[in-house]
Amino acid sequence: MPEFGALIDGYYRFRAGNYTAQKRRYDNLDHDGQHPPVMVIGCCDSRVDPATIFDTVPGQMFVLRNVANLVPPYQPGQGLHGASAAIEFAVVDLEVRHIVVMGHGKCGGITAALKNEDRGAPGPSFIDDWIRIIDEGRDRVIERCKADPSIDAQRALEHEAIRISIRNLRTFPYVAEHEADGTLKLHGCWFAISEGELHVMDNETEEFHPA
Ligand SMILES: [Zn+2]
Repeated sequence: MPEFGALIDGYYRFRAGNYTAQKRRYDNLDHDGQHPPVMVIGCCDSRVDPATIFDTVPGQMFVLRNVANLVPPYQPGQGLHGASAAIEFAVVDLEVRHIVVMGHGKCGGITAALKNEDRGAPGPSFIDDWIRIIDEGRDRVIERCKADPSIDAQRALEHEAIRISIRNLRTFPYVAEHEADGTLKLHGCWFAISEGELHVMDNETEEFHPA
């Protein structure tokens, strides 16, 4: 099983290459702590690494990745909330100035949501529960596709999931507060894998256009 060895080989390249080239940056980040101006919420999918797509440097982005880049609504006191904890930390402690929700093409989580059947492990499934965040959006997309079969349901739900996540972000009181006073901006993006193309959501129309 050479896969873990490949990671260690990559680490040796990093040590000799990027780490050495950016030694001063790493020293400063170690000494001064992190002050990333941007939070990115992306999918776990191995093909859509935000640091690669946005070509960032260490310390520039606070990244949360989960299945289908979803944000749950603000629901304190109901279980363990990894996504919500990361959002709280980014907004309250780090005071990020932008949150970018980045979806992508061929998203397996969105495909699972569209199928609307038992989706993860047999019986109780974390995926089933998680994907329920976009149930309402899925029903809307299916209705729209019935009326207009030319609509690409997969892409329509990938876009809709980003809109729902941005709306859910606004249910967090500190997100709403910082957005209202102009210190925080919310953005939607969608990345097409084979084209390597980023589409950005227009905040007025909520439609996506190539950057
Ligand atoms: Zn995905």
